[in-house]
Amino acid sequence: APFQVVDVHELLDATLLMLSAKIGKQVTVVKDYDRTLPHVAAYASELNQVWTNTIDNAIQAMAGVGTLTIRTARDRDWLLVEIGDTGPGIPDDIKNRIFEPFFTTKPVGQGTGLGLDISWRIVVKKHHGDLKVVSQPGDTRFQIRLPLTPPEN
Ligand code: ADP
Ligand code: MG
Repeated sequence: APFQVVDVHELLDATLLMLSAKIGKQVTVVKDYDRTLPHVAAYASELNQVWTNTIDNAIQAMAGVGTLTIRTARDRDWLLVEIGDTGPGIPDDIKNRIFEPFFTTKPVGQGTGLGLDISWRIVVKKHHGDLKVVSQPGDTRFQIRLPLTPPEN
């Protein structure tokens, strides 16, 4: 199937609505959207999966209490979506392992360790984008970059 023309903000809002019960009342949601960004060519349902996986992780990291920040911005030829949380952060010794399939620090039954692996495959392999994390205690940001001018496909 070909890429669709998608409004990233519409997709983010739809995902936030879907997850509102899980996000709960003790998480403050801050939307910092650059509304001047153009639409992108992408697979809508797959991007929703990426937002769901990263927001899920953010809520779990904060144990349901904190601030979830969803930011969009233009970064040169990329559209940047940043999912930020105020949780404890990711220790340096596991930072390079979290995108591996089945890597999880969660108790058995609570994490499959597949969320970031799937997200990485969607963003990097299917959309020719980039997915990385910048993290320190109290400030973790998953950065998803999508090409504003995708290769022909
Ligand atoms: P799972 O959520 O099933 O553990 P993921 O692939 O989604 O699998 O995440 C892998 C691991 O990355 C998590 O177990 C956790 O250790 C770490 N992680 C992911 N997101 C965050 C976050 N926002 N804050 C802290 N750690 C995180
Ligand atoms: Mg996860």
